[in-house]
Amino acid sequence: ASAPALVQETPYRYRIEPTGRMRVPGVVFASPGLLPEVGGDQALQQVADVATLPGIVDASYAMPDVHWGYGFPIGGVAATDIADGGVVSPGGVGFDISCGVRLYAADLDAAAFAPRKEAVLDGLSRSTPRGMGKGAVWDLSGADQLAKVLASGAKYAVEQGHGVQRDLDRCEDFGAVDDADPAGLSERAVNRGLHQLGSLGSGNHFLEVQVVDAVRDQAAAEAYGLRAGQVCVMIHCGSRGLGHQICTDHVRAMEQAMAGFGITVPDRQLACVPVESDPGRAYLRAMAAAANYARANRQLLGQAAREVFERLTGAGLDLIYDISHNLAKVETHRVTGGDGAAGAAGAAGGAGQPRRLCVHRKGATRALPPGHPDLPADLRDLPDVGQPVLIPGSMGTASYVLTGVPGGPAFASTCHGAGRTLSRHQAARAVRGQELRRLLESRGIAVRGASWRGLAEEMPEAYKDIDAVVEAAEGAGLARAVARLVPVGVVKG
Ligand code: 5GP
Ligand code: MN
Ligand code: MN
Repeated sequence: ASAPALVQETPYRYRIEPTGRMRVPGVVFASPGLLPEVGGDQALQQVADVATLPGIVDASYAMPDVHWGYGFPIGGVAATDIADGGVVSPGGVGFDISCGVRLYAADLDAAAFAPRKEAVLDGLSRSTPRGMGKGAVWDLSGADQLAKVLASGAKYAVEQGHGVQRDLDRCEDFGAVDDADPAGLSERAVNRGLHQLGSLGSGNHFLEVQVVDAVRDQAAAEAYGLRAGQVCVMIHCGSRGLGHQICTDHVRAMEQAMAGFGITVPDRQLACVPVESDPGRAYLRAMAAAANYARANRQLLGQAAREVFERLTGAGLDLIYDISHNLAKVETHRVTGGDGAAGAAGAAGGAGQPRRLCVHRKGATRALPPGHPDLPADLRDLPDVGQPVLIPGSMGTASYVLTGVPGGPAFASTCHGAGRTLSRHQAARAVRGQELRRLLESRGIAVRGASWRGLAEEMPEAYKDIDAVVEAAEGAGLARAVARLVPVGVVKG
């Protein structure tokens, strides 16, 4: 089937007209320059398919980094009206539940770091379990201790001495969500969770040392704790085998249960049930447990990196923010009907009644506007500073910090990265890992990989142009750039 047609609405916004069983339009945020890449795979068909889900409101949204994913596109946002039979779908969250990014700033500038770079990268390489192999920062004592991690996330890790209070103050949900249900997990999910807490996982996950290359918004950068020339550490990873198993278990359960609710979907991978149903609630409680696991995972890896920095440079690491980009959340927003008006609750002039929605963000990042009550306390009362949004680019290009803006059009969401254009397979055929490492090293980027093949799969050319993606996100009114960071060393999963 040919890809659905896009109609340009504004310079950074395209529409897919509802046809067939679509309940709402598709809306794609992109610039003309990004369009060929945005339409390069089945992602636009997936945007249209998501628009058929029961209870979906406004539109099926695609961010500028959109690409093909399991059922839902990666870079997709879809919200369903809970009171109106709205559904939750594990495919709208993804297999790596609560995969996300955390960014630390060191009290250290690039020039002072340079002579210690190789030693620090060696230290980080040793302190960061990764790849297919076994090993984790924290080998849990058993299912009882895992249950505490699943119930209290990064909060439990910090209580046990693996971090400081600021790590929780600056974490989404302050380190833990409280509606997790560890008891509902399958034995297989529990077993996979026991020995992976504090590990990166594979290829696309990383721990990277970066330098702030340019500040675009001085007030927000200062409030976040960032300055030009500063050394930072970015960590990208998720809930490992535990989250993957939870997704697998619940997709299977929903495939069975769906028909009983009279739901049919155009693609099995969109399996879903009403939020207000037993299997719907069970999924959300298990998903919350995985979200807590993922925060604890990033907390432990961050704490290990902090110890390396303190030992080898004397500088501490302050958390800037930790945010998931694979999650469904129950949130209140005004529903506009997808006509282009503001969607976020509290946005000036936003039409419609506030409704309780299940907001799926898959490869998409929450981006709360200034003044939102869920912001960290030290950012809450600043007039033009929203939630920090962390956007990795690739190991050879820039990454960004953005801020949430008032009236964001997609339930206060934006992109989550540059987004893939080449499959892992295509990338591995295009370059050899050894060659790529030499190239990166020649550009001043120290590389500590887990496997040559894994490295090749992550070649910077496998991803879209991050500068263009961020420009489109800004142009579409999704978020605003605060700082641009460039890599100086990467520990790759
Ligand atoms: P995902 O969660 O979809 O696997 O990855 C999120 C984004 O991370 C990708 O779209 C890509 O732009 C970015 N990314 C992947 N590998 C790296 C890396 O090694 N370093 C940086 N800075 N970004 C990366
Ligand atoms: Mn992930
Ligand atoms: Mn991710």
